Amino acid sequence: MTSGLTHSTDVFVIGGGPAGLAVAIAARRRRFEVTVADRSAPPIDKACGEGIMPDGVAAARALGISLEAAGARPFGGIRFCEQDLAVEAPFPHGVGFGMRRTALHKLMVERAAEAGVRTMWGASVTGLERDGVWVAGEFVRARWIVGADGGNSTVRHWAGLDACAHQNRRYGFRSHYRIAPWSDFMEIHWGEGCQIYVTPVSGAEICVVLISRDHRQRLDHVLPRFPELARRLAAASGRSSERGGVSASRRLRRVSRGNVALVGDASGSVDAITGEGLCLLFQQAVAIADSLEAGDLSHYQAAHRRLGRRPELMADLMLLLDRHGPLRSRVLHAFADRPRLLSRMLALHVGELSFLDCAANGLALGWQMLTS
Ligand SMILES: Cc1cc2nc3c(=O)[nH]c(=O)nc-3n(C[C@H](O)[C@H](O)[C@H](O)COP(=O)(O)OP(=O)(O)OC[C@H]3O[C@@H](n4cnc5c(N)ncnc54)[C@H](O)[C@@H]3O)c2cc1C
Repeated sequence: MTSGLTHSTDVFVIGGGPAGLAVAIAARRRRFEVTVADRSAPPIDKACGEGIMPDGVAAARALGISLEAAGARPFGGIRFCEQDLAVEAPFPHGVGFGMRRTALHKLMVERAAEAGVRTMWGASVTGLERDGVWVAGEFVRARWIVGADGGNSTVRHWAGLDACAHQNRRYGFRSHYRIAPWSDFMEIHWGEGCQIYVTPVSGAEICVVLISRDHRQRLDHVLPRFPELARRLAAASGRSSERGGVSASRRLRRVSRGNVALVGDASGSVDAITGEGLCLLFQQAVAIADSLEAGDLSHYQAAHRRLGRRPELMADLMLLLDRHGPLRSRVLHAFADRPRLLSRMLALHVGELSFLDCAANGLALGWQMLTS
């Protein structure tokens, strides 16, 4: 792998998480010279549900990243569970994949190395100027600068891009359980004020995430309210320590200014329950590379807005169900009575249905709820 300090580069990427590496790979494929700096060293871990939906799998493939070849665990659809009710739908095409976050990072670091990306691990970026960045005490000149430094982005602040159109936060806590997945679906277990979602990440391990608005809430506190899930998890032969993170719903007014662009969580995010964070950043990476090639980041601004619309809509729907228990119960019963409604909702979620079809599905769902 190319590594170490350089004094100039076409593109300097601040942050070597999934977003930074995805941009680096996309820009290298357009023949830009690219340097990535991250203050941590690989493989970098992070609280994540570790599920990638079929649209995310396709977006990763477009960057030359094959999750299946890296041993990720496929899942065929989504199952919603609440008390005794369980409704499920398969994806319209393809499968999603579950994969430990560290395994995904390792895979992306390898792909970046193959693409010829220069990397600086254990190197903090401490300042931004018009024509470059300060990293590890040295100045590196760069024509383009990409902030991929996560939800608490400092680059966002330095570039004056902090203004939000919308902001909301929840808290997620993740644990791995050593147990063979009991289902080929990703499961979302709904409870009052929280959800637990379960993703198979290998033939012998699952990833379990609790997500709620209360930062003090932990899996062990709420599990008694999910007896069926608690019973299954009790059979696990081991459990990792818990890792927490903020699941922000954040839409920025702007994601680029001059020669600086933001990507991934630095550029805003959708609630983690959608499982669309990684898909979005893979798609944004390609959009940035297109704009760099065109020499104009304003194209990226428009593409970023377009890419975010569908996941934001899905997040709004899921958060509506989170807040309104009686409505959620009626919706889940309507899905149970007419499984096609859930299939179409899932098709919209993974980008296989238009907004018009979505409106028609919404009307059919409303009618089902009124008449059942
Ligand atoms: C609880 C939870 C569950 C989730 N579940 C899913 C899911 O199932 N599926 C899904 O697709 N998405 C999920 N997401 C969202 C997904 O995890 C994020 O969208 C994704 O991690 C964002 O990646 P990133 O590269 O933008 O940021 P990060 O992964 O946060 O990377 C930012 C990097 O920048 C580095 N950095 C920061 N500042 C500096 C600096 N000054 N100098 C150098 N380096 C710096 C950091 O060290 C870090 O490595 C979940 C999120 C949460 C919180």
